[in-house]
Amino acid sequence: MADPEIFDLTIIGAGPTGIFTAFYAGLRGMRTKIIEALPEPGGQLAVLYPEKLIYDVPGHPKILAKDLVQQLMQQVALFQPEFVFGERIETLTHVTANDEDVWRLGSSGHAHLTRTVVITAGIGAFTPNRLDRPGIDAFEGEGVYYFVKDKRPFRGKRLLIVGGGDTAVDWCLNLKDWASEITLIHRRDEFRAHEASLTSLRMSDIPMLTHWELKRVHGADGQVTGATIFENRTGEERNLDVDAVLINIGFKASLGTISSWGLDLADIRHIRTDGFMATNLPGVFAAGDIAAVDGSEPLNLIVTGFAQAAIAANAARRVIDPAARLFPGHSSELRL
Ligand SMILES: Cc1cc2nc3c(=O)[nH]c(=O)nc-3n(C[C@H](O)[C@H](O)[C@H](O)COP(=O)(O)OP(=O)(O)OC[C@H]3O[C@@H](n4cnc5c(N)ncnc54)[C@H](O)[C@@H]3O)c2cc1C
Repeated sequence: MADPEIFDLTIIGAGPTGIFTAFYAGLRGMRTKIIEALPEPGGQLAVLYPEKLIYDVPGHPKILAKDLVQQLMQQVALFQPEFVFGERIETLTHVTANDEDVWRLGSSGHAHLTRTVVITAGIGAFTPNRLDRPGIDAFEGEGVYYFVKDKRPFRGKRLLIVGGGDTAVDWCLNLKDWASEITLIHRRDEFRAHEASLTSLRMSDIPMLTHWELKRVHGADGQVTGATIFENRTGEERNLDVDAVLINIGFKASLGTISSWGLDLADIRHIRTDGFMATNLPGVFAAGDIAAVDGSEPLNLIVTGFAQAAIAANAARRVIDPAARLFPGHSSELRL
């Protein structure tokens, strides 16, 4: 079988940092591929808080996370990088192809060849914490959800939300005028959500049942019709008539095999880089939440990832062409 095409740059992870890295790589004329484990772009913004407003992206007094992702995708479309979704990179090895030393990125069943790599894998590929209770698995995706990718299934519905962190509280607030009725249950009486969000929630008419847990989900013909909840101190049970259950009890994020790629790690979650976002592997860079510059404590914000994306892409350009300048010129001077 013929070797796959050798790209100039391959980006691992299509969160905000990865998408913006692809934009800068496009500005530098690099043939770029971006590989994402999830079925959609946006990383944490798409999965953890798509409907939340972000206030600290320069130039946007406020913007919904999902809208920022959509605008980043619109911005990068100018350069038409190749996107690969639903593929998790598991190996990174140095190989020779067409008489050239390149990197080979492997996933189950696929291989990608590239001259340079930027790892923008964030907090890793994450999976929701699951509840093992009767009825949950049977209705998952059809009335029982761990993510909200789309608000439409909740329109006019009676909704039970399970959890006490930011995600559960934010969805209560976000869906309160969308669902016909919301009940929140949390197994403790302390919430981990932001105080301002909790204040808004307390001022709403959403019942917040603390020390209550989900016991069972009921339904028929592929539709949820109710849930049994119980008071975890007294054992009291209640049956709620609900059409949907949203379980937001946290996520597990895992860097998976990344730690075995021979990268110098600052700690179990971060790849050590220099000021050019270069790792210890030649031609391999890291940026965004996964990067720790000089091993120092990272500032895990979107804006930090954007700046690091610009640095990494321009530094990668110099690996491909050592005569190239780091400075890309001003985009305002381009005729696009
Ligand atoms: C609830 C919440 C609210 C936040 N609010 C703000 C805010 O208001 N302002 C702000 O600046 N920041 C905020 N943040 C932080 C911000 O979301 C992160 O700093 C940002 O998402 C980091 O972007 P990233 O691209 O580096 O990583 P991520 O967004 O984590 O994206 C990484 C991507 O890489 C993919 N990936 C991982 N491993 C692999 C692999 N092996 N192969 C292929 N793909 C892989 C993942 O699936 C993921 O899509 C918030 C975070 C949370 C959780």
